Amino acid sequence: MIRFPTDLAQAAGSDGEIRAGATDLAERRRTMAGEGPLVDLRDVAEARNIEVAADGRTRIGALVTIAALAHDEHVSGGYPGLAQAAGGLATPQIRAVGTVGGNLLQHTRCWYYRAPEAECFKKGGAMCSARKGDHLWHACVELGPCASVHASTLGMALLAYDARIDIVGATMRTVADLYGDGSDPTAHNALPPGAVLRGIEIDPPRRGERSVYLRATSRARAEWPLVEVLVRIGVEAGVIAWAKVAVGAVAGVPLRLPQVEAALVGAPAQAEALVAIAALAREGTAPLPMTAYTVDLLEGVVADALERALVADPVGGS
Ligand SMILES: Cc1cc2nc3c(=O)[nH]c(=O)nc-3n(C[C@H](O)[C@H](O)[C@H](O)COP(=O)(O)OP(=O)(O)OC[C@H]3O[C@@H](n4cnc5c(N)ncnc54)[C@H](O)[C@@H]3O)c2cc1C
Repeated sequence: MIRFPTDLAQAAGSDGEIRAGATDLAERRRTMAGEGPLVDLRDVAEARNIEVAADGRTRIGALVTIAALAHDEHVSGGYPGLAQAAGGLATPQIRAVGTVGGNLLQHTRCWYYRAPEAECFKKGGAMCSARKGDHLWHACVELGPCASVHASTLGMALLAYDARIDIVGATMRTVADLYGDGSDPTAHNALPPGAVLRGIEIDPPRRGERSVYLRATSRARAEWPLVEVLVRIGVEAGVIAWAKVAVGAVAGVPLRLPQVEAALVGAPAQAEALVAIAALAREGTAPLPMTAYTVDLLEGVVADALERALVADPVGGS
């Protein structure tokens, strides 16, 4: 059965899985990692815009397409790292159809989750098949019994912007709350059952901030990242005054790197100073037998992104 509500309040609390762009959902249903009634957001007119409030906060509707986010002039001017992340993920075809909400709430790409015959916590099983099987693209940071990584590039990027989420009928919380701590192996996110995401809100960009999105992939296009990073920094009088560093594809939820952020504050804004700081990204990693390479990638991509952030165009001019 498919329902077609005309607003998000009607969609909330429904018995059925929300369908937005369907680029994740349709593939999952084809491989039987999903079934039951659907609530299609096709006829919903709200949550399809990017709006700037009088105080400069930016609201991004959950039904805004990834392409629209990537091409929005306000976003690319004020939040260049976010625009780069949106424009760099998936393919033009997926970005044209996939939505911000669907991206944040997409399910794991773990091949055991998506294989009908494989046992998996997220399908009601009692074990993680990836741990003893092929986990080449899995976690190098242990948060719980499931070894898969979260696939959302935008979730990772918005974590670096301390974004807040707007859930229909619920209090605004943070993007970090949307994912939780990753310890529940059965969950893809911490959104309560029946809840519908209406949008995202971000604070105004900081004047002079520099941001960069960077990923390492196994092929140049149409692939999920092996490691991805979003760096935001503020430089004052030749010194890094503040820093936000988020990483994705290394754990069951997107992560911030507080040890890297703390070490950056007060460091000279010079490439030589960044190498030792990037090495701190290794702290807290605990790779599986096949994922040790991602720890090296993590350090390298963080170092590269930090170096690029130093020379990125500052928001609003220097
Ligand atoms: C080749 C390829 C490469 C890709 N590479 C990347 C990549 O690098 N990074 C990345 O992040 N993604 C990547 N993707 C995934 C793609 O970005 C997602 O499939 C897409 O963003 C999902 O958006 P959608 O609107 O189609 O979601 P849907 O498929 O419609 O929904 C996805 C999930 O979100 C839920 N949902 C959707 N909207 C809401 C809402 N408003 N409230 C509550 N629940 C909701 C649905 O119920 C469903 O469970 C790739 C996909 C392909 C095919």
